[in-house]
Amino acid sequence: MGIALIITLFAAVFGVTSGGQTVQEAGGIRALLLILGPMAVGAVIGVIKAKKVEMTGMPELIAMLHSFVGLAAVLVGWNSFYAGAEGGHHGIHMGEVFAGVFIGAVTFTGSIVAYLKLSAKMKSAPLVLPGRHIVNLGIIVAFFVMLVIFARMPPTGHVSCGSLLLGIMTVLALFLGWHLVASIGGGDMPVVVSMLNSYSGWAAAAAGFMLNNDLLIITGALVGSSGAYLSYIMCRAMNRSFISVIAGGFGSDGGVVGEAKDYGEHRETNAVEVADLLKNAHEVVITPGYGMATAQAQYAVADLTSKLRARGVNVRFGIHPVAGRLPGHMNVLLAEAKVPYDIVLEMDEINDDLPSTDVVLVIGANDTVNPAAQDDPSSPIAGMPVLEVWKAHEVIVFKRSMNTGYAGVQNPLFFKENSAMLFGDAKDRVEDIVKAL
Ligand code: NDP
Repeated sequence: MGIALIITLFAAVFGVTSGGQTVQEAGGIRALLLILGPMAVGAVIGVIKAKKVEMTGMPELIAMLHSFVGLAAVLVGWNSFYAGAEGGHHGIHMGEVFAGVFIGAVTFTGSIVAYLKLSAKMKSAPLVLPGRHIVNLGIIVAFFVMLVIFARMPPTGHVSCGSLLLGIMTVLALFLGWHLVASIGGGDMPVVVSMLNSYSGWAAAAAGFMLNNDLLIITGALVGSSGAYLSYIMCRAMNRSFISVIAGGFGSDGGVVGEAKDYGEHRETNAVEVADLLKNAHEVVITPGYGMATAQAQYAVADLTSKLRARGVNVRFGIHPVAGRLPGHMNVLLAEAKVPYDIVLEMDEINDDLPSTDVVLVIGANDTVNPAAQDDPSSPIAGMPVLEVWKAHEVIVFKRSMNTGYAGVQNPLFFKENSAMLFGDAKDRVEDIVKAL
């Protein structure tokens, strides 16, 4: 990106000639100021925002940044439409503009809804409009029909009719982006984040086509395809179909979010009791979740781990692929606290060992350890593979209350006979256990 910026500035100031022909006029100092001015404003806002953001606020910040890429593609598209094509490729250029604005607009509103859902400014329950799949399909068919008409318009005298078509399509695409993400239920948001990541890459690549900019096409395609592959991995982790993700609203056919089923009584414990339990354990597994990130408990957890290992306890971590709010969220936190990599295992690697585990410490995890995903077909998270922590001899759940997790469903794990709740901030409670040890 550094090279791209330097070359762009250089070309704008000094101009570019190729084969004796001027490709870009020299803009001199005026062009330099016009580029550097807005860049400086953007950079200052970006740096302030990035410095202030908490690790827990990263997902919504990323969603917001995706929306900027989408908006940029829409603006570049409209500008490129009025500027017209250079050379004799009018039809192709118009096709690129139309597709670029479409992808950009879908990314723009989709990312804003993702931002609102991730920051809890909008409820995470899915929006279920009547005939929603027909609506989505209708917009996509309309897009292709209008694309053909738009691309076949003659180069002269097309602006007002073209503006109308492009305007209608922009509004439809803005609606589609909003609708696709609004229809997706809370527990399925991880796939949406990586999917929008992919869309933002395609939006950038589309802008590259419109601007005839190879670097933008390449970097956009890199982001687009790696984001698509990440979405595929997330879909596999959550046992969802990739195609239904693209169609939107795939997670919303499940049961009632926040239902009030009676699971019976839960048992409470305290730090001293947990320390005693750990002293006598041979095999301990820690399954962290979003609560560990909010509490910033990773250092305390790393400390507890090394204390127990020093006593000869075999401590390992079980990481669910969608634990936290970002792909790899827990791995990043544990690496930051210098937990050795070889004891951090993925869900599939640890699940078979859980029945022979003495104690599982569930630190701020909820949906990723919810047995309802396996036992209750009407649950919104039904079918999602989970860490089967309830199979261990003892389970200690660290959280502040009996509140639900991100998907908004109660967790029957908390009411099982071998489970005990250790209430309070996860960092404080882990530190209490370290002291008691
Ligand atoms: P959850 O979000 O399901 O639950 C986190 C739990 O942590 C809550 O129940 C909360 O309970 C507890 N908690 C919060 N703060 C603290 C604190 N300071 N101390 C102790 N406990 C605390 O977490 P999981 O990681 O299990 O699941 C992740 C969820 O997020 C999944 O539904 C996943 O689909 C979704 N998601 C994941 C993304 C990803 O890419 N990984 C992206 C978007 C969504 P209480 O309030 O009672 O303390």
